[in-house]
Amino acid sequence: MSNDVWALAEIYNGKLANISLQLASKAAELAGALGGSAAAVAMGTNTATAAQELGACGVQTVYASEGTVYSEYLIQPHAETLASLIQQQQPKLVLFGGTNYGRDVAARVAARLSLGLEYNVSEAIVEGGEVVMTVPAFGGAQSVKMTFQGEGTRLLGARQNAFPTQRTGSTAQVEQVPPPAAPANGGARISGPFGTEGAQEAGHLGKAPDGHDIWLPAASRAKLEEAQIIVSGGRGLGGPQGFAQVEELAAALGASVGASRAAVDAGWIPYAHQVGQTGKTVKPTVYIACGISGAVQHKAGMGTAGLIIAINKDKDAPIFQFCDLGVVGDLNVVVPQLTQAVKRHKGQ
Ligand code: FAD
Repeated sequence: MSNDVWALAEIYNGKLANISLQLASKAAELAGALGGSAAAVAMGTNTATAAQELGACGVQTVYASEGTVYSEYLIQPHAETLASLIQQQQPKLVLFGGTNYGRDVAARVAARLSLGLEYNVSEAIVEGGEVVMTVPAFGGAQSVKMTFQGEGTRLLGARQNAFPTQRTGSTAQVEQVPPPAAPANGGARISGPFGTEGAQEAGHLGKAPDGHDIWLPAASRAKLEEAQIIVSGGRGLGGPQGFAQVEELAAALGASVGASRAAVDAGWIPYAHQVGQTGKTVKPTVYIACGISGAVQHKAGMGTAGLIIAINKDKDAPIFQFCDLGVVGDLNVVVPQLTQAVKRHKGQ
């Protein structure tokens, strides 16, 4: 067993997702502390560009497997390539993202090779030669420190945006890995571009009072985890129609739309938009929370945003204790005014 640490990169439509850079940076840090070397595994198309970006984050090697089989079939080919690389090289640790992709691949590989796996890790450091992970517990109110027991490669699932991207500007050695053949059993085929499954569903905001469907425009469906500006709505919106004004502000700002769990549970917006402990962890430059109280579980997903702006009619709402800018007022008044001000500023 080596002391090497790997990062599982994610490529969607030939573009490397940001989580890959975060994982590569962490892999480089942990491998350095363990006295091993760091590598990344990139599968899909345009892996040469991905390898450059991953190398710039400090991994010494990129296992690049170029092939359209990865975008034509669901997770099976990805799991096959990663499992066979792990069997050959025996790294100590493989980092994967807490994304649908990362979870799917890691779960399959763990089952296939009987490897230990931990999800939802918010921090990982090396202490006494062991990787010590921090995992939130009790709704984010407590954190638990954990280590893996026994031998064998371990799979560590990181919360999105938990690890910062550290660019060292170095270059990785690229090792080409042949892609597997198309799954012999037929496998599950993807009929649209990889990474967009459910996008249409994710854009469905529900029914307006007159019965017509409300859809988010495509521009607002940018991946929440990678968005620079997010406008989020909570129970204070009062219903699915409330998201229309959130969407209008988001469109004016070029932002993505997020939501609290209360809004998601009420069926006002699909789960893909949920921010928080049981939703997505986001790290935008600006996060605007409209009618969201600021529960600890919501904060767990957005607390590290650059600038947090809260609009809430209750001056005692918990969100005012950790936002950077708070507006006490009715969102039905404040949000349209803000939208108009943004549009005026942009000359729209
Ligand atoms: P509320 O707490 O009901 O807040 C609504 C806010 O809107 C209030 O502060 C109110 O003053 C304000 N408001 C009402 N009307 C207006 C108006 N007209 N103008 C301005 N403001 C107005 N929550 C998440 O968000 N994400 C998670 O991932 C998540 N995971 C969870 C996991 C667990 C295990 C548990 C137990 C809970 C989780 N929750 C999560 C739920 C969380 O505890 C809160 O219940 C939820 O975040 C509340 O959503 P909210 O702020 O929209 O609603």
